[in-house]
Amino acid sequence: MSVPAVFLDRDGVLNVYLPGDYVKTVAELALLPGAGASVAELNALGFPVFVISNQQGVAKGLMTQANLDAVDAALHAGVSEAGGTITKSYYCVHHGQDGCDCRKPAGGMIRAAAREFDLDLAASVFVGDTETDALAARDAGVGAFVLVLSGKFAGRPEVAADLAIFPRPPDFVCADLREAVDWITRL
Ligand SMILES: [Mg+2]
Ligand SMILES: [Zn+2]
Repeated sequence: MSVPAVFLDRDGVLNVYLPGDYVKTVAELALLPGAGASVAELNALGFPVFVISNQQGVAKGLMTQANLDAVDAALHAGVSEAGGTITKSYYCVHHGQDGCDCRKPAGGMIRAAAREFDLDLAASVFVGDTETDALAARDAGVGAFVLVLSGKFAGRPEVAADLAIFPRPPDFVCADLREAVDWITRL
């Protein structure tokens, strides 16, 4: 029987987004307040949690696959310290011009998770900080999208409020993952 999941973008949702840069080293990874505890709450609600992230810095040669693997291991460890579990991280390491089907706004990584873990996408939620996340969620048929203002639109809520940039308006807009989890709890 397929189960609902929560998909999380990484930068700007779980950890601090670096405008115009990539998180290339463990030293550059800073978890946002409450991020690990939020994952633990989602787990307690019965949701497996997946990270769905574009990291074209690998294709651009700005970091290596080993750098990305080290950052991912640190992310899992940081969440684990707070009692949470990320079931699996999916990364697209291709260049934006490669035309792969995994790079968001395509839903390939979400579909891969659904196949691998038998997930009920229509009953699942995606939490992201960009319109690209919203598009990927829609492309894969994820039931709900929550926009958090802790990343790309931090300090610019008026831009996010211009929902014309979203092909499908977010089902909920909130400050951060903690508030997103509060909303998911009430579903
Ligand atoms: Mg992001
Ligand atoms: Zn890709």
